[in-house]
Amino acid sequence: MKVYISADIEGITGTTTWSETELNAPDYQFFQQQMTREVEAAIEGAIAGGATEILLKDAHDSARNLDISNLPINCKVIRGWTYDPMCMVAGLDQSFDRAIFIGYHSKGGSERNPLSHTLCTYADVKINGEYASEFLINTYAAALHGVPVSFVSGDVGLTEEIHAVNENIVTFATKEGIGNATISVSPKLTIMETKRLVASSMKVPRQHIQVPLPERFMVEIIYRDHTRAYRNSFYPNATFKPHNTVEFVTDDFYEVLRILQFLT
Ligand SMILES: [Zn+2]
Repeated sequence: MKVYISADIEGITGTTTWSETELNAPDYQFFQQQMTREVEAAIEGAIAGGATEILLKDAHDSARNLDISNLPINCKVIRGWTYDPMCMVAGLDQSFDRAIFIGYHSKGGSERNPLSHTLCTYADVKINGEYASEFLINTYAAALHGVPVSFVSGDVGLTEEIHAVNENIVTFATKEGIGNATISVSPKLTIMETKRLVASSMKVPRQHIQVPLPERFMVEIIYRDHTRAYRNSFYPNATFKPHNTVEFVTDDFYEVLRILQFLT
């Protein structure tokens, strides 16, 4: 069984402020180590649940956060950005059986995590009228290849969103955001539960967790800066929507990934 793992940091246990997520910042070291431990727990759980081959994507900022020294021999890792539209799930294709997202976070526009955002911090993204999370975008990206997401860890706001999308996707909540603060569980609990829950999520039948792709996508990219919205509205088939939004309609989710790759 082939498993794909995408790892971010803003949903890792304890992360609360941006300097804790930035490569080489003085506050970063513990959180980079905790991200590594949570990913290692997911890998152990996946292997315990039957994974024979794992592709891991470091998917935060520099994409060079994880300490890879303890990766098992059946695991490959993508560091850095490929710059193709699959982005945070680069390399995921129909050969995989399941995907797992570690350290994911609430969507841009959400009050549920002080580090909430979607893909960038200068714009929010809506799909079909609702603010969209990186979870939703990457779950649809996986669905393009027929691959379901079986486990996600991140903040409580995200786990509630996931259960509204599909209640069979297994989740673990690492923390809750309140204003500019977080209440986190013990980092040890996250590691223990990630390992256990990833292993059990491998047994959930694929058809129970496969999220269907909508037939049509109305994408709105809502910028903080209206001049950026105007400039980016010249993307092919995009339109400017006053006063700070680019709108784009398609029935092909790969075109959604393409516009997000260029405009966020
Ligand atoms: Zn991130």
